[in-house]
Amino acid sequence: MLTIGVDVGGTSVRAGVVDGEGLVLDTERAGTPKGEAALEDTITAAVSRLLDRHDATAVGLAVAGFVNSDRRRVRFAPHLAWRDAPVADRISHRLGLPVVLEHDANAAALAEYRFGAARGAHVAVLVAIGTGIGGALLVDGQVFRGAHGVAPELGHLRVVPDGRPCPCGKNGCWERYCSGTALSTTAIELLAKYPGTSSLLAAQVAEDVNAVTGRRVAGAARDGDALAQRAFGELARWLGEGLALVADVYDPEVVVIGGGVSESAPLFLDDAREHYAAIVTGAGHRPLARIRTAQLGDDAGIVGVATMARDLAARTVRNGRGH
Ligand SMILES: [Zn+2]
Repeated sequence: MLTIGVDVGGTSVRAGVVDGEGLVLDTERAGTPKGEAALEDTITAAVSRLLDRHDATAVGLAVAGFVNSDRRRVRFAPHLAWRDAPVADRISHRLGLPVVLEHDANAAALAEYRFGAARGAHVAVLVAIGTGIGGALLVDGQVFRGAHGVAPELGHLRVVPDGRPCPCGKNGCWERYCSGTALSTTAIELLAKYPGTSSLLAAQVAEDVNAVTGRRVAGAARDGDALAQRAFGELARWLGEGLALVADVYDPEVVVIGGGVSESAPLFLDDAREHYAAIVTGAGHRPLARIRTAQLGDDAGIVGVATMARDLAARTVRNGRGH
């Protein structure tokens, strides 16, 4: 049985046909349009093109935003047009297939649990480090959503009182210190603090301060730039700090580090582990969570939500509502 997973992000819509082993067999991709109707047209068109080539039985949508607890509506997605919209029913009606919705971090966590770095873990946390931080918690393979479907919002844990301002309205949120965005902020701060540093990044800052992106800091660090490596050192420290908070609350067996920044894990993960192990409550007297990098990369959202769609289709057939 094949199902289709769609990753609906702020810049692109990616759809993939996924089999029972979590393998992506075929994909379609399009830019994310601005309006609500145009976005639904784009999703429906991408899925329809895949359905022309494959016989799939259900569709899952992984959305970068809040989904309500029955997973039929998108409450709010900062980079998408939907506001309290019945997305699952609308798309299901247009495609004539069962559709399930999920927060993209939850979908990625499920994919890592079924097929990747968190396989079989009783308590698994996903920390997806990209532009910001996305978080998910799985208990025995079940997504923990909280009472209103918005937990766990790890990126906005306050790690630094009166720290850097965050678009969420607070100060000192974890993702202001530990994300691709944070890497560039830290690098720019370090350059201002140590003027005259001979750094590959200094020339970029002199040219245009906005040119210092997380990706560029990573590139410079890999090329041996000391200042860029120091920015990664700071990120590692704050990652360890946040992981210690996460471990105090959830006591996970495995923490999976995903997202775009995890591709640079050799630059920071060992330091983060060390810092985490040193400061977690009861350090030296408790088992530590295994901290691993994600295995499914960019496809995790597609694979996870397609797997949820498969579970939904199986239930639908069992309940005799499918055929
Ligand atoms: Zn925040």
